[in-house]
Amino acid sequence: MPKKKVFIIGAGPAGLSAAYELLSRTDEFNIALMDKSDCIGGLSKTVYYSGKPRATLGGHIFRPGNERFLAFSKKFLTFQGRPAIDDLLLDKNVKTVRGGADPQREDSVMLFRDGLSRFFRKGSLWDYPPTLHLRTVETLKITEAAFMGLSFAKARIMRKTPHTLEDFYINRYGKALYGEFYKDYLEKLYGVSASEILTDYDSRKFISLPEPGRIKAKEKELLTVVPEFREDLQFEEIYYPKFGAGQLWERVAEEVEKLGGRILKGCYAEKFICENSRIKTLIYTEGGVSGSMDADYIISSAPLGEFVPAVEDYKKPESVQRTAEKLQYRNFVGVNVLMKSLEAQNITGFPTLGNIIPDSLIYVFEPEINLCRIQVYNNLSPYMLNNPQRSVSLGLEYFCGGDDGFWNLNDGEIAEFAAAELASTGLIDRRKVLEMNVERAEKALPLYTGSYADISGLKTYLSGIENLCCVGRGGRHSQLDMEGAAQSGFEAADRIINSDLQG
Ligand SMILES: Cc1cc2nc3c(=O)[nH]c(=O)nc-3n(C[C@H](O)[C@H](O)[C@H](O)COP(=O)(O)OP(=O)(O)OC[C@H]3O[C@@H](n4cnc5c(N)ncnc54)[C@H](O)[C@@H]3O)c2cc1C
Repeated sequence: MPKKKVFIIGAGPAGLSAAYELLSRTDEFNIALMDKSDCIGGLSKTVYYSGKPRATLGGHIFRPGNERFLAFSKKFLTFQGRPAIDDLLLDKNVKTVRGGADPQREDSVMLFRDGLSRFFRKGSLWDYPPTLHLRTVETLKITEAAFMGLSFAKARIMRKTPHTLEDFYINRYGKALYGEFYKDYLEKLYGVSASEILTDYDSRKFISLPEPGRIKAKEKELLTVVPEFREDLQFEEIYYPKFGAGQLWERVAEEVEKLGGRILKGCYAEKFICENSRIKTLIYTEGGVSGSMDADYIISSAPLGEFVPAVEDYKKPESVQRTAEKLQYRNFVGVNVLMKSLEAQNITGFPTLGNIIPDSLIYVFEPEINLCRIQVYNNLSPYMLNNPQRSVSLGLEYFCGGDDGFWNLNDGEIAEFAAAELASTGLIDRRKVLEMNVERAEKALPLYTGSYADISGLKTYLSGIENLCCVGRGGRHSQLDMEGAAQSGFEAADRIINSDLQG
């Protein structure tokens, strides 16, 4: 029997997971995976400068949780069985697995790391998430702090049904704490007030919020004395590929090709022509030349705002077209800054190479500063730097609209702006910048605003196309993280293998 043809749009986590699952579990399918970019990994790619992996587009931290994703990751990267370079130099006792890989000698390695997230506000680094302990009280004045404590307690007792993202945060932290710390941060991230964002917000996605259990533990700390940062630091166990998140996806792509899948880079899926409630033909452009292919199945991780208008000859109500055209997104701008050293002092007592701050992620809660988050790659993987003892690689995350002045600046202007902002925090000295690089991604953050309230009509329309499965962040219009995107790819493969989709 001839193999069925599956076309997968997008070589990000969702598309690659679907491709690998289909190819590794059966030999019934002929798979072609296309990506309009010439990279592997989508938003989770590793970024190379001078041929060396130095950053990813955002944090892309791996947290234990989803067993299927963990088992999947282990097929491509082996957990560390020996200490990494920083552990060796600092003589640290680290978690390793018996029979694991030696990161000093092997490359396909998943490292165990001590993840630390803090937030920057009023010139200092604070425990993330913000809660009320002595340091907060000292800075806020006792009356403000007492007010926050009361508002926090009130929110815990009198929870209201959350309709907006603002309700969701107020339920967790109380109105006063929300107003002091989160309100402005969320607005710079999403571009609108959290009160305008519908609640389809999943607390595990995108910006990690503490679980309720952790909040309870923190409640006990209200007004307790915290003399030193060190005891109070909340490290979490995270894992991270030796060469950044994208290394996992590059390994998956290699295996997909070994199993016979084709990966077409620089190939844009332009139109989906239907016949009898099925996508029959895919029109694509590659190197400026158009082509077409007939498909049995389509798995698409393209943003719905682009995908739906590209579907032809399958009766599209005007309301569905309108909803798709009015879906809203935020673009992403990442600035990688290579520094000689940082001005921020490591006063935590936690040992690091070059004694830099031990943070992996820093949330910037300073309202006048546009920057949202900072990654410190040295602490995620020291192998992402040529010399982790004498240089620091920072990833700066900005979000903006496509018509914002910021997005329309050229890369040099963006880099200058970012360096100036970062220097204004006191975390760096501008004169110690060695190199800066700018990355951009359109439609990186699907928003739950605009026509999102009508998305169910659009999803019902798409579910009528018998051989289509929409996956991932773009295909689900959801702020999925890497695991969630991969999970949606697994589910698409399950549906095709179980003949739950009509091929
Ligand atoms: C700044 C930032 C920080 C993040 N931090 C984390 C984190 O710490 N942890 C975490 O788990 N997740 C994080 N995420 C989320 C993570 O990046 C995404 O969940 C994941 O990459 C989504 O995978 P995907 O395959 O659904 O989509 P994407 O990664 O967006 O991949 C989709 C691919 O489809 C291609 N494509 C789209 N349309 C077409 C078309 N018509 N034709 C051909 N190709 C097309 C695109 O080029 C892209 O490569 C972060 C995201 C951002 C933006």
